[in-house]
Amino acid sequence: MSTTFDMDWGSIREPGSGGNVDFMKLVNGPNVMRIVGKPSLIEVHWEKAADGSTKKIICPGAGCPICKAGHAPNSRYQVKVIDRGEKEEIKIKVLEQGPTVFNAIKTFAMEPEYGDPTKYDIKIKKDGAGRETKYNVVASPKKVNLTDEERQAIEDSKSLEEINKPKTIEEIQTMGLEILMGSMADLGDLGGSDIDPENLSDDDWNNLWFLKLKTRLVNYQPCFYNTMNIMLKNIFYLYIILKKFNEG
Ligand SMILES: [Zn+2]
Repeated sequence: MSTTFDMDWGSIREPGSGGNVDFMKLVNGPNVMRIVGKPSLIEVHWEKAADGSTKKIICPGAGCPICKAGHAPNSRYQVKVIDRGEKEEIKIKVLEQGPTVFNAIKTFAMEPEYGDPTKYDIKIKKDGAGRETKYNVVASPKKVNLTDEERQAIEDSKSLEEINKPKTIEEIQTMGLEILMGSMADLGDLGGSDIDPENLSDDDWNNLWFLKLKTRLVNYQPCFYNTMNIMLKNIFYLYIILKKFNEG
């Protein structure tokens, strides 16, 4: 950010939103942009939340609870661009795409006549929707230098590293993701424990492996907790009974 005096109150940024960068939404037809940085590879999880929404989670790597639960992340490429479709002001955006589009850009970048893709505009033509979407990348043969204003806007924009800062493992666990909400598969962990169902006390319950899951639930939805606690407890009793039944 550059120093700015006597600002309008409206320009005071919300906490944590410094230099907000939008994602480049590709529309059907031509999308013209200038690449203004180096590409990055981002590992992304798309996960369903209990409220029905789909959440995008940057994989934190080692210790990621979503990976541990068996969902592998998707690789996405990102690069910062200037959206040439924004005529009013210089808008730095993030182009996020899979390998198809980025390989097409790479072809130009590796081609001596074109070279460094920050020196010319590119046009991505999008056609269709969903899995049938086709992309066609064309590079402008004209090399045009960036203006000072454009350079300043690039400098002022958040880095891709900042934009993709992963949540902490605790934060991910309290997002209410379905995959981390505990399932019957979790109950299998009980296999080795030697609990006497005859003398099962609340202490046993409270000391159990479920504790982590319960903590998650408390964080996720405190009002939900009591109901869930009772429900989980009943599942647990049922499990013990079935286990004894099978063994006997
Ligand atoms: Zn992960």
